Amino acid sequence: MSIYNFTQKELENYLIENGFKKYNAIQIIEWLYEKKEKDFNKMTNLSKKLISFCIEKIDINTPKIIKVEKSPLANKYLLELKDNNKIECVLMNHDYGYSLCVSSQVGCNMGCSFCESGRLKKVRDLALDELVGQVIAVSNYENIRIDSIVVMGIGEPFDNFENIKRFISVVTNNKMINIGQRHLTISTCGLVPKIYEFADLETGVNLAISLHAPNNDIRDKIMKINHAYKIEEIMKALDYYIDKTNRRVTIEYVMLAGINDSDECARELSRLVGNKLMYVNLIPYNETSNFDMKRSNDFKIKSFYDILKSNNINVTIRKEMGGNLSAACGQLRAREEGSEIC
Ligand code: SF4
Repeated sequence: MSIYNFTQKELENYLIENGFKKYNAIQIIEWLYEKKEKDFNKMTNLSKKLISFCIEKIDINTPKIIKVEKSPLANKYLLELKDNNKIECVLMNHDYGYSLCVSSQVGCNMGCSFCESGRLKKVRDLALDELVGQVIAVSNYENIRIDSIVVMGIGEPFDNFENIKRFISVVTNNKMINIGQRHLTISTCGLVPKIYEFADLETGVNLAISLHAPNNDIRDKIMKINHAYKIEEIMKALDYYIDKTNRRVTIEYVMLAGINDSDECARELSRLVGNKLMYVNLIPYNETSNFDMKRSNDFKIKSFYDILKSNNINVTIRKEMGGNLSAACGQLRAREEGSEIC
């Protein structure tokens, strides 16, 4: 079992159950997360008995980085898990620091029609150590401190909700990864019941919604999840989240030529968002050879942006970090595992 598969509380309980003291958990956590020690033998304030126990029962491994694609603003990493499954994460170098986009599942069952990860289907959820392991692996590989995390890579985080809750606990624990709640964002395609549950956690962690359409007709065509939860239900759940947390929600909107980028779509989206505590992030689509969909041209994106702005909507256009990277979520993994695609 990996040491990264424990929250602080879980490690305390595990050690107590095995005859050790609660404070031993903090000792181990400090060695791991603060001093970045990878060898139990070098954890000099642990008893010999505890060191032997840890060596026998626990490992300190993280997913292995097997490929890196670099561009000036972002690096993409392909990581191999213990069972040889592969996932991706992306490191972005913003003015305000390093931000890591992590995966939550191997593949994804949500089947969004523009997404490589959905095309490969879900194989399994990521365990806590595989979520935490992405942060540790990239931070050690680059020898940097990661300043913010978005769970927006391969997979639907709310379809792996229990482990995401534990991940939030490890990321925001000041003895562990130590990233403030406001620097952690979870993104969902709209699993409505989980939005309510997430709101009830009252964590201060940010929420982003992959909306990608201003009405159900368009969303039905590009996002299967809309057959289960309509836009009205999502907006109601977001109202609940905002009421409960007073946190601003990010609306992610990928710009697909001829599908969701008309002026009318921009006006509809403006009406939907209105004066709610939300901001819209327009994302130029990264084309992939496996889908017919095309990126909206710059003129269309700008005109969409202008209409939102003229309606007093907070809106940004996401910088295209990918460039020559296999930039869309899941592309690098899809290429590596091409032979396994059914
Ligand atoms: S866009 Fe996100 S939710 Fe949709 S298929 Fe891809 S990974 Fe899954």
